[in-house]
Amino acid sequence: MVVILFGAPGVGKGTLAQKMQLEGIAKQVSTGDLLRNEIAAGTEIGRTVKQIMDAGKLVADEVVLKLVQGEIEKENVILDGYPRTLKQVSDLDELLKKNGKKIDAVLNVVADEEIVVDRIVNRLICSNCHAIYNKKYSPPKVAHTCDKCGGKIVHRSDDSQEVTMQRIQEYKEKTRPLLEVYGKRGLVIDINSSDEGAVEKIKKILAQ
Ligand code: ADP
Repeated sequence: MVVILFGAPGVGKGTLAQKMQLEGIAKQVSTGDLLRNEIAAGTEIGRTVKQIMDAGKLVADEVVLKLVQGEIEKENVILDGYPRTLKQVSDLDELLKKNGKKIDAVLNVVADEEIVVDRIVNRLICSNCHAIYNKKYSPPKVAHTCDKCGGKIVHRSDDSQEVTMQRIQEYKEKTRPLLEVYGKRGLVIDINSSDEGAVEKIKKILAQ
């Protein structure tokens, strides 16, 4: 199974993907988390992408492809943040063909732009397991400490208002056009991230 979670920065893709993984639907593969892991580990990829990510720009297609490749070969996946460019759509098509897999659904996660920016600037993330928190709406029980793994909770360096606006711009220019491509293939289903029953709905859709 391959499910794509599509949507602008901060619409709630990551939180939804984590819930879907918990429900046993498939494994969350977040390209943002994979890239942040490279930065934290100080790898060559990490050193190349840090500045680009901090500026709110998209990382080169070949770099991201390298990171998702291994994951897709192994198991059923929820792609959180991939693909994001037209080139990535064709890269993914090729990769899936090689592995005898296909895209089951493209879930277009929607939310209001004001909510999105407010959500992002208050967002916190566990530096160890990547669980997502929110200073206002869902803070950790113990300050700076992850409820799930005890890891250190941090504010992402690209979650400032200014960089967020840049990320939204990149989304509008380079990523949003992908909706038309997948729409033509009849794969797109809208999901509202504020909907309490979103995961149940997704389960039903995928079971059809
Ligand atoms: P958000 O969806 O909130 O923007 P992510 O964690 O998905 O957050 O992505 C953070 C950053 O990682 C992006 O701004 C971009 O620099 C980089 N990134 C993640 N996925 C991709 C991708 N598929 N292609 C290019 N860059 C990516």
